[in-house]
Order: sequence, then structure tokens, then C-alpha cells
Amino acid sequence: MPQEIKHHLTDALLMGYSAGTLPEAFNIVVASHVSLCDECRARLAEFDTVGGEIVAMGETAEMGADSLAQTLAAIAEGPAEDDQQVAPATDGPSVLPCPIRDYVGGDVEAVRWRKIGGGVRQAILSTSKNATARLLYIPAGCAVPDHGHAGTELTLVLQGAFRDETDRFGAGDIEVANEDLDHQPVAEDGEDCICLAATDAPLKFSSMIPKLAQPFLRI
Ligand code: ZN
Ligand code: ZN
Repeated sequence: MPQEIKHHLTDALLMGYSAGTLPEAFNIVVASHVSLCDECRARLAEFDTVGGEIVAMGETAEMGADSLAQTLAAIAEGPAEDDQQVAPATDGPSVLPCPIRDYVGGDVEAVRWRKIGGGVRQAILSTSKNATARLLYIPAGCAVPDHGHAGTELTLVLQGAFRDETDRFGAGDIEVANEDLDHQPVAEDGEDCICLAATDAPLKFSSMIPKLAQPFLRI
């Protein structure tokens, strides 16, 4: 990352990710931020350790007569694959972190963008239906329509930067928005902004046009 990350994941999100209770769309955002951020990677490792100890304690308490044999068999099989493990981004310069490239099938040039108005483009990633993850392409100086949120929205900046009513968000920064926030993200001048946004409920738009288009755009 060319600049320091200022906005990080919450403990609740890191714990949910560690416990495997987040929707798939949120997992992609968390995994992507963690791959870019040493600080959150270290905090996640702590939650993983605590979570592992709690699971181990639960198993000890439930030990039955033949569980010793089962435990020995499990040890012989080796550790279970941890599909949530996130490696730091070590490969060459790319716009999309590895967890997103897995969904896109390549870096940013492989993204199949669709126009959603005002110069803004999006590409929805294929995830389970309980939450939606989308890449957003906001040309420099352009705005995403002003909107509120019915649930939680996570936005991770991958290129460029945007500002809204709360602060400036640069590459690697994450914004956690909920019911309390109405905002209009505007991409900074100079560089087009690419973000990954995940929502677990439809956005609430303040103006009529995006509201009408909403069912077609799945935003
Ligand atoms: Zn972080
Ligand atoms: Zn929002």
C-alpha cells in the first residue's frame, strides 16, 4: 500500500470472520482488508487463537468413552484445512487483492463492469444470497448517489480515494456504515476510485431515479 491505512475493521467483524459467522460477501471484504493490513492481520490471529482455545475446551468437556480413539485418529489425519487463512499480499502490484481476484478470475482488467449511471460502474461478485458484494468504479470527481442503509455496508478502497460526510478513505481503508449514516461518497480528483462494497440489506436512496433503478441493478 502506498499510504498508511487509517480506517480498520471492527472487533465484531474480525471475531465474526474468525468464527465463520459472516455472510460470504462480508468475508471477501474482511479477507481483502486483512491481506493489505498488518494491524488487522495481527488482531485476527489473536481472535483465531482465542476461538481455537474455546473450541478445544468444549471438546475436552464432552470427552466420552471412545473419544480418545477418535482424538488420536484426528491427530493422525493432521490439522484440518483452514480455508479462512489469509496470507499477506506478496505478489506483484495489482489493484485487486487475492481474495477478490479469486472471484473475478483475474485482476481489474478481467472485471465485467456494468454502468449504473453518473459514470459509476459496478460488478457484482457471485456469492451466497444473504449479502451482496460488488466492485464499484467511480470516476475521479464523480459521486455515488446519496443513500442511507437498512443494514450494514462495508466499503474497502482498492484504488484512489473517496470522501463522504464522515472522512476521507484512501486505498486500504475500510468504511463501516449502518442505519445511522446517510452519505454521498465522492471520488477524489486525480484518480478514478475502485472500491469493494458489501451490503446485507438494500440501500435506501434519497432521490427517485436510483430508487426506480434499484431492483434492476440489485443495489
Ligand atoms: Zn486494518
Ligand atoms: Zn453507503
